[in-house]
Amino acid sequence: MVIRRMSAFSLEKCREETQAMAIHNVITSENPILRQKAKKVHRFDPSISKLIEDLFETMHAAHGVGLAAPQIAQSIRIFVAEFEDRKIAMVNPEIIKAEGEERGTEGCLSIPGYVGDNIRRATSVVVKGQDARGKAIRVRAEGWLARILQHEIDHLDGFLFLDRLDSPEDLREVTEAEFEEAEAEALIE
Ligand SMILES: [Zn+2]
Repeated sequence: MVIRRMSAFSLEKCREETQAMAIHNVITSENPILRQKAKKVHRFDPSISKLIEDLFETMHAAHGVGLAAPQIAQSIRIFVAEFEDRKIAMVNPEIIKAEGEERGTEGCLSIPGYVGDNIRRATSVVVKGQDARGKAIRVRAEGWLARILQHEIDHLDGFLFLDRLDSPEDLREVTEAEFEEAEAEALIE
């Protein structure tokens, strides 16, 4: 699902109605919340839309291309992603189709200073889930976007890219400058 960018007016209105959006701290891999299986959303009240806005805000501030609710210490099944012209927010996502396999390098906002090489992901996926109001949605993606979706859905099940390394040598330390460069190349989720 692609959410249209809010106009300045509706953004203002949104701020008035739901208080200002907030940038949250992104928790890191030693925090046990990242290892929990996140809970399914059953009640689609305004707090869900607010959380989605906060996730986008926090992801933008951190220059990431994806962010899952557990990364801001909320163990519920919601993630956001933005890649090229696609902006996606999904509640209760489920991969219903996965095809092909490719290897790639991934970083994670919760694992600062490291990237993982040769991480295997499906080349294309179809993900079903719900939007902020509980309406059923379906997203098809391939390549980088498919990788981002798989990485974020892993977060909801308590997995990190560290669990997907074929060999410990594939975990690579990067300098702050390199991590920032990786962000620019859309590797950091
Ligand atoms: Zn991540």
